[in-house]
Amino acid sequence: MENLPYLTHEAKFKDSGIHRASELLKRWGNETVEGLGLIGVPLSKPSISHSGASFAPETIRKMMNAFTTYSIQQDTDLIASSITDFGDILMHVTNLEESHRRIESSIETILQSSPSMKPIFLGGDHSITAPIVKAFQRVHGKVGIIQFDAHHDLCNLEDGGPSNGTPFRQLIEHGAIQGKHLYQIGIRDFSNGKVYSDYAKENGVTVYPMSDVYQRGITAILKDIIAKLQKEVEIIYVSLDMDVMDQAYAPGCPAIGPGGMDSQMIIEAISLLSKEPSVCGMDIVEIDPTLDFRDMTSRLAAYSVLTFLMGFGRRN
Ligand code: CA
Repeated sequence: MENLPYLTHEAKFKDSGIHRASELLKRWGNETVEGLGLIGVPLSKPSISHSGASFAPETIRKMMNAFTTYSIQQDTDLIASSITDFGDILMHVTNLEESHRRIESSIETILQSSPSMKPIFLGGDHSITAPIVKAFQRVHGKVGIIQFDAHHDLCNLEDGGPSNGTPFRQLIEHGAIQGKHLYQIGIRDFSNGKVYSDYAKENGVTVYPMSDVYQRGITAILKDIIAKLQKEVEIIYVSLDMDVMDQAYAPGCPAIGPGGMDSQMIIEAISLLSKEPSVCGMDIVEIDPTLDFRDMTSRLAAYSVLTFLMGFGRRN
């Protein structure tokens, strides 16, 4: 049929030069990768509360379509950049420890074959950070961690096994990291027990509660941490639990609450960390798309990935 020039399966604004951020994701084809990588870790069964965080990698990828590739603040279009999408790690249906083993061994293999690639992991719940960091430690040596979180995640393993409440204690007790190389930012009132705060102190973990973030500012705190870690570790790993955000900005987290960070604070933090050459990986965890409102939390995650890509391109 003729004379239907407006009927199309193509994207809107086809010829206008506007690109969607989803175009930046390039499917991995077994090649050695440099630059940024994306790896989905869809595991939420070790979550203490009900969680659909296993749906997050797919939703965050979809939300890349909600943004363009152009930054007005940097007057830069990211379309010449790319992120290699490795896909998702297949989880065992019932065996949590087997799922953790698959995460650890897959990431170790990827890091060995692409040693200069910097991965962003899309969780999943926070339990995934333990096997990820173990893989980093084996491949790269001493790891320092900057953790954004409302919670310490220092629960003991005896009472409930490896869950989303235990990853950092697991790493310390396993010897994969030292407590003094763990920096926790955004820990909130009425969300933790004193016993975990005591454990942090006894093990040399540095804790910045939300009051510190408000008073000192996130940039000053991060600059201090980076200066200290750089003298002591081979690489820095960033773990972003979205529940560090105030509930107004991240309604899709299983553990929401007031008094957290706002979007601008976390974007400022990621922008700074992405430019830092010692930062070799980051995870974004604890988003449950089934609880979210208009995918607000997954949108923030996608925006965080883009912010990281922008800063990464500006590394010296
Ligand atoms: Ca957490």
